[in-house]
Parts: sequence; structure tokens; C-alpha cells
Amino acid sequence: GGPLLAVRDLAVEFRTREGTARAVNGVSYCVDSGETLAVLGESGSGKSVTAQAIMGILDTPPGRVAAGRVLFRGRDLLTAPEEERRRLRGERMAMIFQDALSSLNPVLSVGYQLGEMFRVHRGASRREARERAVDLMERVRIPAARERVNDYPHQFSGGMRQRIMIAMALALEPDLIIADEPTTALDVTVQAQVMELLAELQREFHMGLILITHDLGVVADVADRIAVMYAGRIVETAPVKELYAAPAHPYTKGLLESIPRLDHKGKELYAIQGLPPSLTALPSGCSFHPRCPLATERCTTERPPLHPVLDASEAPVAGRGSACHYWKETLHG
Ligand code: SF4
Ligand code: MG
Repeated sequence: GGPLLAVRDLAVEFRTREGTARAVNGVSYCVDSGETLAVLGESGSGKSVTAQAIMGILDTPPGRVAAGRVLFRGRDLLTAPEEERRRLRGERMAMIFQDALSSLNPVLSVGYQLGEMFRVHRGASRREARERAVDLMERVRIPAARERVNDYPHQFSGGMRQRIMIAMALALEPDLIIADEPTTALDVTVQAQVMELLAELQREFHMGLILITHDLGVVADVADRIAVMYAGRIVETAPVKELYAAPAHPYTKGLLESIPRLDHKGKELYAIQGLPPSLTALPSGCSFHPRCPLATERCTTERPPLHPVLDASEAPVAGRGSACHYWKETLHG
């Protein structure tokens, strides 16, 4: 029972010169085995910080988890004994970052780095580890894997390096992968290929996948559900198709209108005016109000909770919520 991973009311603070920044402010979401959750938001929305808290790479100042729970198969990763946490995060969960070049060691061959996972965690011999490395490289469809196993990271293209990062994440067959902007540094066509590969492997291994992105366009085809973050909170959550068809939050609506299209190449597309707020001085009421075309007086004083989105007969729509006083107008407008 219960989801693979559940984040409950998570709050993360950073001490900065300007004061305490609430980078994550009461975030809850969950992901099941075999499911892909996209977490969408601009830079600074708290989406990466939430992932770092899940992975336990925030445990040092200036960042700290101020409240909440991170339940992995029901075990709270924030309070479990150190050794158990390390084991779960090292073997059952893996993370993929945007920048493969800085995540891979430049002076070790990719085969060595992939093989190291098996030597360290599975006690494999050098020869076995090398064979597993070749298998993994084939699995992520690196051409001529056996001939390239001794090559160094810089000898691969950006797209191939990102495939190697995926191979590293898959090595121990984790239950959960968190991918933070895994394709952002790549060309559009390569982005699609890498995303498709990730989605395919996720299905094959029946893993939970959390896909963090600022780009709604890249997750449309691969995510099951979306949580949209703004200024440290989730502002909308929905099955991906429903969110695309009819967003219930003005911010999501703006993001959808800003998806780059080929016929608009090079033009300024962003439909949302202004910048995200400073996390040390969040606007009163709804944090989005200074940028929101629908904002009223009420929005400047009263913070909207995540309301369930209701259908025509006033029944909650499964999996849908919006933190907007005017979700109904937004949904039908
Ligand atoms: Fe806009 Fe008001 Fe809704 Fe916030 S609560 S998103 S300011 S309409
Ligand atoms: Mg980020």
C-alpha cells in the first residue's frame, strides 16, 4: 500500500544576506511505480530544491528542511537512521542532472565510471563490471558501445553524454529516478530522443520518474501527471492531458501559451509579464498576483489554498487542484 514516494508539507529554508528564504513552502506530491510526474516551474520556483531535499543533498547549510516528510515506501527519509537513508538513496533512488559534463569525472573512462557502480555496490570484478558497463551503454543505445567503453566523457556528444547519465542512474535498477532538466542543455531534436529513451526505460523497468523541467513542451508526451510550482508552492496539479486541454490556474495558462513553436522561432514567446518574486519578500496574498492578469483586490490579501477542481456537478475531478480563487473562471475562460 501507499505510493512509492510521497512528499508531505515539505518546507525548505535558505539563510541569505537578505534574510530567510522559503524556497519550498508546504509542498506535497506523490509518485507511484511505473508513473511519471512532471514538476514544472520557472527557475527559483522550488522544484529542484524539493528534489534535493528528497535525495538528501540539502542536509548542509545554508539550506535546511524546516518541516515536512519524505516517505519512500512509507519510510520517512528525513528521520530514518543515517545508514538506511544512505542505502535507500544510494541504491533505490537515482538522480539525473542537466549537466552531464560536470557530473561525470573527466579523467575516467565512461566504462570505468559505469562499472564502478557494480564494483562498489555489487562487488563485481573488473571484468564483470566492464561487461555490465557495455550492457548499459547498449541499453541506452550508444552506437558501438563495446568499442567506446574506454572513451572519456568529452569524446561523446552532449546527447550521448546524457544517455550515459541515464545509464548510470539505471545501473542499480532503482525504484525511483529524479531527472532535473535532463534535456535542457540539448538541441531540440536530441531533446526529444533522450526524453523518449528515458520514458521507454521508465516503462520497461516500471520505475517511478519525477521529471523536473521549466519546459511544458518537453514533458507533454511522457508525463502522466503534472505539478506546477510557483514561488515555492504547488499552484496546479492535474493529469497531463487535462492540464493541456483546460488549465485551471492563470500561471499554467500563461506557461501553455509560451510553449515554443517552430513557426515562432526566435520570437519572444513568454506570455507572462514580469519576474518571479524574491523568496525573502514574497508578495502578500497570492504570490502570483503582481503578474496575474486576473488579479483582484482579494488576491492581494488572501492566499488561495490548493482547491479541488470540481466538475459541472460539483464533484471533485480526480487528481486536479488549483491554488487560485478564480480557478473556475480560468478553467472555463
Ligand atoms: Fe491570479 Fe488571484 Fe488566481 Fe492568484 S488567486 S492566480 S492573483 S486570480
Ligand atoms: Mg533547477
